[in-house]
Amino acid sequence: MTLNVTPGAYDAVVIGAGPNGLVAANRLVDAGWSVVVLETQPTLGGAVRSDEEVHPGFVHDTFSAFYPLAAASRTIQSFGLERYGLEWTHAPAVLGHPLPDGSWALLHRDRNVTATLLDQRHEGDGEAWLEMCEAWDHVGDAIIEGLLTPFPPLRPLPGLLRNLRRAGGADFVKTLLTPITTLGSQRFGGDHPRLLLSGNAGHADIPLDAVGSGLMGVLMTMLAQTVGFPVPRGGAGRLTQALADRFAALGGEIRCSSRVERVLVDRGRAAGVRTVHGEVIACRHAVVADVVAPHLYGGLVRAEDLPASTQRSIRRFDLDPSTVKVDWALSRPVPWATAPQDAPGTLHMADSPEHITEALAQVSARAIPANPFMLAGQMTTADPARSPAGTESMWAYTHVPQSASSDAGEGGIRGVWDADDCERFADRMQRRFERLAPGFESTILARRVLGPHELEARDENLVGGALNGGSSQLHQQLVFRPVPGLGRAETPIGGLFLGSASAHPGGGVHGAPGNNAARAAIARRRRRLGRGVNSGLASGKQL
Ligand SMILES: Cc1cc2nc3c(=O)[nH]c(=O)nc-3n(C[C@H](O)[C@H](O)[C@H](O)COP(=O)(O)OP(=O)(O)OC[C@H]3O[C@@H](n4cnc5c(N)ncnc54)[C@H](O)[C@@H]3O)c2cc1C
Repeated sequence: MTLNVTPGAYDAVVIGAGPNGLVAANRLVDAGWSVVVLETQPTLGGAVRSDEEVHPGFVHDTFSAFYPLAAASRTIQSFGLERYGLEWTHAPAVLGHPLPDGSWALLHRDRNVTATLLDQRHEGDGEAWLEMCEAWDHVGDAIIEGLLTPFPPLRPLPGLLRNLRRAGGADFVKTLLTPITTLGSQRFGGDHPRLLLSGNAGHADIPLDAVGSGLMGVLMTMLAQTVGFPVPRGGAGRLTQALADRFAALGGEIRCSSRVERVLVDRGRAAGVRTVHGEVIACRHAVVADVVAPHLYGGLVRAEDLPASTQRSIRRFDLDPSTVKVDWALSRPVPWATAPQDAPGTLHMADSPEHITEALAQVSARAIPANPFMLAGQMTTADPARSPAGTESMWAYTHVPQSASSDAGEGGIRGVWDADDCERFADRMQRRFERLAPGFESTILARRVLGPHELEARDENLVGGALNGGSSQLHQQLVFRPVPGLGRAETPIGGLFLGSASAHPGGGVHGAPGNNAARAAIARRRRRLGRGVNSGLASGKQL
């Protein structure tokens, strides 16, 4: 076969224009590299996109919606995206749990307001809340930096150790290692703070009684209390657009509808890629893959180019659970039975911490949850630009097993996630809103259900509807992510870097895997230059 070989015109090829791909691309052009980004979808952004297909005049975030990690990420801050049109906006309250007794566990942007509300429910909880916030003030920034930089986090470590004593020393470390259910009941007497902590831990697939849930719960709760859960004005796609516009302004090139089907390896080194259209795009220094690990090591790189140990380990890669997401266009704001003091953007739908544990346990037991624990968003509340005045752009998602063996609820949903399964499960999710907001169903102008297959069709990194690029549990974090090794962006192929959520530190929109991959590529180039090694695939070479 004759291949149409583009001369080695680029320093780097980035596969995938998700947030991590775009962060890597920006970091590389900042270093003076010529970079092309190849994206298989016709639209940029991976799981950071918005669309207007649910109902005229309504913007919906197709996947992710709230960005505390992006707001806290030094990488994303360093790009100055506000100059490229990004504007963050916040709901009056950060997040809330509506409860059947009419009360709300509410996290306000002002920690003193949160504490007062918690104290009204259970005396003493307000003070305990403020104590937790103060401990976080000492070490929070260093913990976030440690999580978002390559492993081991050598740079933030001295600062972390210096401040740890002020946060409580070993006792604080123990707090972070304590499962969130235990931590919640050790520190608080009432149900509201326990719900806020457990609901936030439920953003990852770590069981609430397992190590790791404490760190996740405290991290997300303290992010909520410090940076809030902001959203880009106009839709999630504005964050993507700002990243893309910055990249283009610095000379980068993006090609949509360009699926990469093979990473080309020449003498153990990544020399370029081949697209499904048969075009070979060579590169001088690096290929950065914003690709989920089982795809990268399960086809994109040929098996014969990989060590046997990588092939073996990737077969044991553990995906996170699947997802069903529902978007609604509502004719008016959600008619909550009792309105909260301040309207939250993010909602956690669970009657108690025990209910969250039960729903997650059902997913682990391969059962479709009877009463799903849902994350939800009132997007017009957070950003009035999302829908006409007096209406609400709304979504909710929940997790379901990757491979279901039963339905814990009534209705015999089979878990094949065809249109029938998806619609009936969406009805189940919707009934939970109707119970707490009577009349919810009468406000629905339009509904869209994105089941696992539909999510994956729109972003192939979401394998089976898994949204974090692989499980966030301890056995697949740090040096075990994505396969046992050093927990770094380097792969067994020289010049190929993993820069997706499958790399440390995992899912969420913070850009760390993309940034780590780009920095590793730049460092490798410097080392090679130091050794006088030049690289590049000669134009016309057949691979
Ligand atoms: C429903 C949902 C809700 C979420 N909510 C939040 C939230 O509120 N806040 C938050 O911080 N995070 C959230 N997340 C997680 C977050 O969106 C992801 O962790 C993040 O998008 C991962 O970024 P990424 O760049 O690694 O991958 P992705 O965003 O998945 O992007 C990967 C890109 O690569 C492209 N690609 C893949 N293979 C190829 C190929 N062979 N050739 C060319 N292109 C390719 C894909 O089309 C895609 O555009 C959510 C995710 C989902 C699905």
